Amino acid sequence: MRCPFCGHEDTQVKDSRPTEDGTAIRRRRFCPSCGQRFTTVERVQLRELTVVKSDGRRVAFDRDKLARSIRIALRKRPVDEDRIERIMNGLQRQLESSGESEIPSKAIGEMVMDTLREVDPVAYVRFASVYRNFREAKDFETFVESLSDRSRGKG
Ligand SMILES: [Zn+2]
Repeated sequence: MRCPFCGHEDTQVKDSRPTEDGTAIRRRRFCPSCGQRFTTVERVQLRELTVVKSDGRRVAFDRDKLARSIRIALRKRPVDEDRIERIMNGLQRQLESSGESEIPSKAIGEMVMDTLREVDPVAYVRFASVYRNFREAKDFETFVESLSDRSRGKG
């Protein structure tokens, strides 16, 4: 990392620690050339993750879309917004730790099912029943839309 003060090409990391929510690493750096200190934050850019659909099409990973489908599965279940946020962070960590930049949509669906099974049995059944259709339809859009249709139908 180049020093932002003097442009020296080699700065030293004095300290590295995760941020409070564990989604980033904060590094204190020191420039041996000019003596300045500065901080960098290292965060995984999930938007650069690519989802490979079962028909081979590739789309950018959309965390909001995934969160939306999980919220729909959890609608009117005793799971609050903080818990949903933790679920999303947990899924994000799993995606990060896979170390892959391309992830099959099937793997994400199964990851979500594994998580929901532990969180709420009703949400799990809702998600799993739609997911089976989704595998036949081979289309994530259809999957999300059918979740919405279903919840609207129930009123
Ligand atoms: Zn410097």
